[in-house]
Amino acid sequence: MNNNELWRSVLAQMQLCISKANFATWFQSTEILSRENERVVISVPNAFSKEWLSNKYYKLILKTMHDLDNTIKELVFTINPQSSKNLVINKITESGKINTDQLKFDEFKINKETNLNHRYVFENFVVGSFNELSHAAALAVSENPGHSYNPLFIYGGVGLGKTHLIQAIGNKINNDLKKKRVKYISSEKFVSNIVSAIRSKNMESFKISLSPIDVLIVDDVQFFAGKNKSQEEFFHIFNSLYEKNKQIILSSDKPPNAIPELEERLRSRFEGGMIADISLPDYETRLVILKTKLQEKNLKLPENILEYVASNVKKNIRELEGALNSLLMYHKINNATPDLEAVKKLLEGFVFSPFSVANYKKIIESVAKFYNLEEKNLFDATRRKEIVKPRQVAMFLLRKELKYSFPAIARKFGGKDHTTVIYACKKILQESEENNKLTEELNLIKQRVYSG
Ligand code: ADP
Ligand code: MG
Repeated sequence: MNNNELWRSVLAQMQLCISKANFATWFQSTEILSRENERVVISVPNAFSKEWLSNKYYKLILKTMHDLDNTIKELVFTINPQSSKNLVINKITESGKINTDQLKFDEFKINKETNLNHRYVFENFVVGSFNELSHAAALAVSENPGHSYNPLFIYGGVGLGKTHLIQAIGNKINNDLKKKRVKYISSEKFVSNIVSAIRSKNMESFKISLSPIDVLIVDDVQFFAGKNKSQEEFFHIFNSLYEKNKQIILSSDKPPNAIPELEERLRSRFEGGMIADISLPDYETRLVILKTKLQEKNLKLPENILEYVASNVKKNIRELEGALNSLLMYHKINNATPDLEAVKKLLEGFVFSPFSVANYKKIIESVAKFYNLEEKNLFDATRRKEIVKPRQVAMFLLRKELKYSFPAIARKFGGKDHTTVIYACKKILQESEENNKLTEELNLIKQRVYSG
């Protein structure tokens, strides 16, 4: 029996032993590479298959092979990406469709106790310079909750992995330290729980329900902005957990000092532990993320297509995933890999064009949103601090990003004297040089302007 015949017989046997979906997933694009006496080298398309085959199916394959040829005593799996060269997408079920339905279903599995989604784990979280610090802090917290950084405050723009990371901490603690009680909650849910507890005069029992928690994860705390009653209650909940050395993990789209209408005492609590940010991934990291996502689904796409996606979809990681899913959907419908032209068409909505993004409307919109104001507030004739600073920031960005003249900016802001604009721009520039926090704010606003 030559190698080919031997492997075909093994595959025929394996098909009888395991489900069709599993067979298609793990045995597509495998072959015997070589045979040296009692050892057989099997080539597999990627690390994922290698791990599964050697951990889960080693004995079964060896026994099957040994039954066919009793000189065989050992198997070695080796990764040979070439073996899947012709198979663009190698996770095909018997009906010829990509088996993503099962995966999709799994993605929505939420643990009822903890509210955590089991999909968000450290193992599938790609680390690069853009999120290194947050990742390291998150790992430290998950290894020693309540004692390394408390609270841990992670901030960054939309779709950059905040929820993934803070849930990964929760999942790891839940797995490794079984006795610890973990609870994940979005700020929106938190506020609505507080509101209904107040309404039904059940605040005490709401607080009691939270007291056995060892790790409280609250996502998107910028949502507390302006919600005074909820902030007050949250402050007390925070304190009572904190005093008992319970771990608190928070996320937000901006740093604590930039969250508008946040009570001072709550802001200083948020700032009392470790603050770490997540910024935008660079090209290489975007490529790694795409490849990791494909590997997770056990799928493959040609390198030139991945490079096109990585160099053009820059907004955030959620968009990268969206772009990838639309390519996979195309494959599912057409049963063929899209060529580069088709990819360009498919991704029109995702592609980031640096030429059309910064404009007057976007700057005004981004500044107003960032500071939780209505756009028209920026033009109010008022000296209120909450308005003056955002207005000066808007003027500064119009000058710096769009090169508007001072008089043009003055006209936009209700015909102010253009020296007021000069003063505003100088002030913001000077302050941002002296004050890292303002620089950070400007960066976060620019990120919105250029990605919106
Ligand atoms: P945010 O909460 O910051 O808006 P999410 O955590 O919801 O962002 O992330 C958006 C999507 O991108 C999720 O599907 C998440 O799994 C994925 N993602 C984000 N960061 C990473 C990363 N570093 N590695 C792998 N996937 C990531
Ligand atoms: Mg989120």
